Amino acid sequence: MGRTARSAGGRVRSARGRAREAILDAIRAAEPLSRVEIAAATGLTEASVSMTVRRLIDEGLVVETGRAPTAGKPRTLLRLDPAARIAVGVYLDSGVATFVLTGQTGGIISRLARPVSPVPSADELAAGVVVLLAGSGVDAARCAGIGLAGAGLPPAPGAELADAGLPPAAGAELADAGLPPAPGAELAAATGMHVLVENEATAAAIGEYWVARLGPERAFAALHMGSGIGAGIVVGGQALRGGEFGHFCVRVDGPPCWCGARGCLEAVAGPRAVVTAARADPEAAAEAGLTPGVASGSPGVAAGSRGVAADFAAVARAARAGAPACLALLEESAAYLAAAAESVVNLLDLDLVVLTGAGFAAASFVYGPAIQRRIAPADARTWHRAVTVTVSLAAATASATGAAALVLQPGLRH
Ligand SMILES: [Zn+2]
Repeated sequence: MGRTARSAGGRVRSARGRAREAILDAIRAAEPLSRVEIAAATGLTEASVSMTVRRLIDEGLVVETGRAPTAGKPRTLLRLDPAARIAVGVYLDSGVATFVLTGQTGGIISRLARPVSPVPSADELAAGVVVLLAGSGVDAARCAGIGLAGAGLPPAPGAELADAGLPPAAGAELADAGLPPAPGAELAAATGMHVLVENEATAAAIGEYWVARLGPERAFAALHMGSGIGAGIVVGGQALRGGEFGHFCVRVDGPPCWCGARGCLEAVAGPRAVVTAARADPEAAAEAGLTPGVASGSPGVAAGSRGVAADFAAVARAARAGAPACLALLEESAAYLAAAAESVVNLLDLDLVVLTGAGFAAASFVYGPAIQRRIAPADARTWHRAVTVTVSLAAATASATGAAALVLQPGLRH
C-alpha cells in the first residue's frame, strides 16, 4: 500500500492541470468542438473553459478551425494540433519491440518493429528509439518522453515514472516469473528522456481509448492477447489499476500457473497453452508447421520455436485456412476465455469489449464469436441490453500507442 500511496502522491495534479487534461481529452474524443460543447462535456464552467482554452491556444496545443452555424451567435470550433506534442511508445513481447511515435490525437507519425533479445537491454531499446525518431524526421528534442509497455510490466500496482537515476522498478519479482525486468530507469539513463512504464493490457486499453476516440462516458474492457492474456478496464476516461485477467480461475483443479495459483485462464487457455497443446498433437503440429513435441520454454525464449506469439499466429493461420485440429484447439481456448470475459462484463457492468493485441489480431475470428455467443443469452436476461464485442483496428500497436498516450496525458491512468 505504501507504494500506491507514494506513486499517487507523486502524481497529484492541480485543479488547473485537471481542467487542462479534461479539455484536451474532450476535444480528442469528439473534435471539432465549440467552447460551449466542451463545457457540457467536461462539467467545467464556460468561463473556466474559455480561460484554459486561451492558454492552450497560446501554447499551440489547440487550434481554432472555423465556425459552426448555430441559431444564435456562431461558435468557433476547436481541434488539437496533432503534432504539437509527441511521445514515443515501446511495446515488448516475445523478443520483438514495437516502437511508435504518436501525436496528441493518437495518430501514428512513424512506427518500427524490430527483433530484440528476450530480455532486451536499455541500449537495444535506446537504439530503436533513435532509429524511429531519425526515420520520422521529427526533432528528438520535441519528444515529451517514452512510454514502455510489456508483458508483466510492471508488477501491480506500481507504474512509476522512472527518471534517470531512480532504481529499476520491477527486477526481482519478474525475474522469478521468467519475465524481463523493467528497464525503465536504464532506458531513461540511456536516452536522457523521461520513461514511464506500464502493464501491456492497461496500455492497450488506453491505446484503444485514444485511437477509437472513445469518450469518458464509455466504460469498456480491452482484452489483450500477446504471448499472455490480460485486460485493461477504462471507466470515466481512466484506466483502472491492477487487474490480472489472465489469472482468473477457470478450472478449480486445473494445472499450476507460474503465478503460484492453479487453473488460471492463462495456464489453461492462454497462447502458450494452445501452442504447447498443438505441439503435443501431431495432427495440429503438422497443420501449423510446428516442431512436434517440443515444449515451449520460458516466456520469449521457447526452445525450438520462434516465440509463443509467432507460434500462436501459425496455429491461427492454419485454423483460418480450415485445419480442423488447430481450429479445435482455438475453440477450446476461446470457450474458457469467453467465460472469463463474461465474468468481467458481469462484475463491472460493461457494454463494450474490445479485443486487441497480436493474438486476437490473428485469431479474433474464433474468439470474437465465442465471447458473443457466451455473453448474448445473459445480455437479455441480466442487463436488458446488448454487449458489443469488437476487434481493434490497431491491435498490433495499441499497447505502444497507449504507453505514448500516458506520457502525453498522465491523467488517463487512475
Ligand atoms: Zn496464474
